[in-house]
Amino acid sequence: MQGAKDLRSVQKKGRLEVICGSMFSGKSEELMRRLRRAEYAKQRVLSLANKIDDRRGIGKISTHNGTVRIAHTLDNTIESIARMLILAEQADIVGIDEIHFFNEDIILAIRELVERGKHVLIAGLDQDFRGEPFNITAILMSLADNVTKLKAICLSCGRDAHHSQRLIDGKPARYDDPIILVGAQECYEARCRDCFSIDKRPWRTTTKTQQQQS
Ligand SMILES: [Zn+2]
Repeated sequence: MQGAKDLRSVQKKGRLEVICGSMFSGKSEELMRRLRRAEYAKQRVLSLANKIDDRRGIGKISTHNGTVRIAHTLDNTIESIARMLILAEQADIVGIDEIHFFNEDIILAIRELVERGKHVLIAGLDQDFRGEPFNITAILMSLADNVTKLKAICLSCGRDAHHSQRLIDGKPARYDDPIILVGAQECYEARCRDCFSIDKRPWRTTTKTQQQQS
């Protein structure tokens, strides 16, 4: 009969976990909690972040409540992704924050890490400010062993929120505004589906919104 130890010895491949949700839902905190827990168990952790997110200094994963973890930073070049594979050789667990800042080239490398036996933890936004999916997060969610979708609290009504409302000069941003604006907290609010506001939704064939625009 095979005991637990025997089963572990034949388990060669790793696993992929995705932590997603809107802004202010606690994604980075949850990522850090899981990485800390692994460190308590003496597992070797590699923390990674994208260079584009330098809100609180390059080389850190940080949360809105000020918690910080030192991280290696990557950009979206093939060289940088190759560097990730080398860095990960010495790690049991690889944590990548703000996955939505990466381009889809990193997906193959993440799959390779899982094939090599690494436990890969990903955190990031599942939707942009227009309420549209970030493709990279959506693909990784479909490949994951486990997905955790966190919710924030709607700043307008107090219900569960899964939208990131972008505000420019206090008014909802327009659909055609650029997707990524790394910046201050006051530019975004967590909103529920009812309180979320965007000027158009192309997936609706006939909408009052479109009629109001014309
Ligand atoms: Zn609301």
